[in-house]
Amino acid sequence: MKVPYIDLPSQFEDPILRQSILDIFENCQFVLGEALNQFEQMFAKLCGTRYALGLNSGTDAIFLALKALGVGGGDEVITVSNSFVASAGAIVAAGAVPVFIDIQSDYNMDVSLIENAITKRTKVILPVHLTGNPADMKKICEIAKNHNLYVIEDAAQAVSASIEGKAVGSFGDAGCFSLHPLKNLNIAGDGGMLTTNSEELYTKIKKLRNHGLKNRDEIEFFGYNSRLDTLQAIIANHGLANLEKVTEKRQKNASIYDTELKNMDDHIIVPQRLEGINQVFHTYVIQVRNRAKLIEFLYESGVDTKIHYPVPIHLQKPSEAFGYKQGDFPICEKQSESILSLPVHQWLTGEQVYFVIDLMKKFYR
Ligand SMILES: *Cc1c(COP(=O)(O)O)cnc(C)c1O
Repeated sequence: MKVPYIDLPSQFEDPILRQSILDIFENCQFVLGEALNQFEQMFAKLCGTRYALGLNSGTDAIFLALKALGVGGGDEVITVSNSFVASAGAIVAAGAVPVFIDIQSDYNMDVSLIENAITKRTKVILPVHLTGNPADMKKICEIAKNHNLYVIEDAAQAVSASIEGKAVGSFGDAGCFSLHPLKNLNIAGDGGMLTTNSEELYTKIKKLRNHGLKNRDEIEFFGYNSRLDTLQAIIANHGLANLEKVTEKRQKNASIYDTELKNMDDHIIVPQRLEGINQVFHTYVIQVRNRAKLIEFLYESGVDTKIHYPVPIHLQKPSEAFGYKQGDFPICEKQSESILSLPVHQWLTGEQVYFVIDLMKKFYR
């Protein structure tokens, strides 16, 4: 049996989707069309925010949020090092400085370390809802309020995750989402979404993504080209209609893993589950003993796994310029050596999930 980490071809097979893609060549409205407006409205509704904007990528969503809030010029942004590099890359691109803090056992920002990291230059707290599990937004927003800081949520992995029914992307000043092919809500290429309740931020970023244009010929300021293609918005609308099913299937697979693997706690640490948290399992991350051997064993048995991420951002070469070094964030570094992402995608059969579980049991026996 083969268990692929992801199954993209199955996702884009639907003949209705294929036809709606072809339909765009009838009217050829490729940029800023009706399908994009529709997707933005539906996405805002999903997140419970007043506004949503379609952008080139999740990275751009973070970058443009920072730009629109006037963050740059050496301002500091508090974030985490165990994320995909884009979280910090967007901060650096905006001219700001990523200030990392360590994480806790659920892979999210350790909120007890935030206040110590705040300086006169701090402008933003940028938590990442890693694996599809929301960070402690109540605490983060409270600290931000007390210190007059903005909050930008990197929700690239967490579309439709929520805390006590309130969706991620609706807590901070802005929520940033990715529609990359590997994300839970995905398209056939790059794309991102930004959510906000601020009319000011919405209006600003809507212009920023379109060269700063206020009408066809005049700009209000110099901007960027960062619009979600209409063709991709059509695909995104189709994906959105299926998102609930996709999420439920991922959660179901995760529950089976939880139940079957948690008894092997000498060898495996399963994801933490907290009351009131709706976790959407972009990844199913466990910590394992003897990782390299396990990966090899699974691979040779037909099971594909991944590591998200083997090199923390603060240990990437360019982070040396910010003074980071080995030993700065012990928990993050320790986790990076034992974490492993098992396939959890919506196309897995029960048979495949149990196949993975049986192999894990066999390996540790
Ligand atoms: C995927 C991802 C991004 C970047 O999104 P893109 O759409 O690929 O630019 C940012 N942060 C996290 C945590 C991600 O997983």
